[in-house]
Amino acid sequence: MTMPLQFHNTLTRSVEPFAPLDPGGKTVKIYTCGPTVYNHAHIGNFRAYIFEDLLQRHLEYRGFHVERVMNLTDVDDKTIRGALEKGVPLAEFTQPFKDSFFEDLRALRIKPADSFPCATDPVHIARMIDMIGKLIAAGHAYEAEDKSVYFRIASFPSYGQLAHLNLDELRPSGRVSSDEYEKENIGDFALWKAHDEHDGHVAWDSPWGRGRPGWHIECSAMATALLGDRIDIHCGGVDNIFPHHEAEIAQTECCTGLKFVNLWMHCAHLMVDGRKMAKSAGNFHTLRDLLAKGWSGREVRYVLIAAHYRLPLNFTFEGLAGARSALQRLDEWGRRLSDLASTSASGTPHPAIEEDAFGRALDDDLNISAALGALFDLVRDTNRAMDAGELSPDQARGLLDYWGRINTILALEPESETIPGDITALVGERTAARAARDWGRSDMLRDELLARGWIVKDTKDGAKLTRSVD
Ligand code: AMP
Ligand code: ZN
Repeated sequence: MTMPLQFHNTLTRSVEPFAPLDPGGKTVKIYTCGPTVYNHAHIGNFRAYIFEDLLQRHLEYRGFHVERVMNLTDVDDKTIRGALEKGVPLAEFTQPFKDSFFEDLRALRIKPADSFPCATDPVHIARMIDMIGKLIAAGHAYEAEDKSVYFRIASFPSYGQLAHLNLDELRPSGRVSSDEYEKENIGDFALWKAHDEHDGHVAWDSPWGRGRPGWHIECSAMATALLGDRIDIHCGGVDNIFPHHEAEIAQTECCTGLKFVNLWMHCAHLMVDGRKMAKSAGNFHTLRDLLAKGWSGREVRYVLIAAHYRLPLNFTFEGLAGARSALQRLDEWGRRLSDLASTSASGTPHPAIEEDAFGRALDDDLNISAALGALFDLVRDTNRAMDAGELSPDQARGLLDYWGRINTILALEPESETIPGDITALVGERTAARAARDWGRSDMLRDELLARGWIVKDTKDGAKLTRSVD
């Protein structure tokens, strides 16, 4: 029995069959809230991006074409504060963090989105201003005395639907904190923030005077500009649900009159000792910290991808060590299969490939634990079959090919090692020495290769090279 592809929808709190909006059934549009670039992203942030990467890659595995947008928040309180403290323009302050974010995406093998719009792009600022104007005209927003513009949540009856909040709970209760006295309702949120002395030179002109956009409208403007008024999947971490995503729904739907997002998917947090990993809590690790300690991007990817996205994941160094040994097991399996596959006898295909328990587990709301469980069962069974000489070279080739397909999703294959020219030349000399039965020279060349970090192994198909581990 085949199970339909299904995902958990935060809006309905249930797992639902997936179908794209595209009448052709092919294209899936995904919007992801990206990093706020005031610091290096920590691996908690990357848990969210790796969950989204798994989602995208699995959809592609199932034949969909994914169109993906991830924004960069390069203007907000934190980026402005950072720029002022450093005494540099905002763009100069955020650029190194944008650069390091892209480096980290590469190290973690996260597929780049089709576009990475920045909130400060004048085209997007103009769109935000345009949307705010529309919201005011339709009575969904109002200009307060301080020249800021707020969204009027009372004008959107379904406000609270995503977070499952009761609007009545958001009614003012008499005492409202002093900096929010201009708002009609304590739950109303800023669409446009009037310029104040803390903003330094960061300001844009608008019909309501100089100021800057609120964070929520940034995403509504960039998502609709690049993907259209309706999108298939909107993702983020659970902390984005309220108020950020709730606000995005309200603003966007009040502008377009259409249902903005079909499926809302949120990942649970990466935790440290029972607390959310966060910059503000000071309990975070950046990828560069972990690389400097000798861990690889692939090992960090393994830790972050291997837990189901809706379960909190506790980060520990034991977890990283576990990832290292799981990867060694997979690498060793791949090497054994390659050695066997390179011999010439034939046989019947391996039945596990047809069954694809790995892919079917992911169809069920990205059940990675079951998928990896099936993969390691296969590794164990086929290792045993190889020990017993019962796996045919054809089966090994089929399994290697299947492992390659699984890696279009997991992206956990070993670094592809390019063998330097001088090493290839030494191997060639050694092969010639062996052909001439000059064993002394052959051994000398083997030692030379070892000294340079390469182990040479003689097989019936010729010399094979592997990296020596120190
Ligand atoms: P920020 O840079 O804080 O706006 O966060 C960027 C993304 O990372 C958002 O989707 C957050 O929900 C997500 N995020 C932040 N901290 C964590 C964490 N500890 N675990 C998982 N996701 C997180
Ligand atoms: Zn967002």
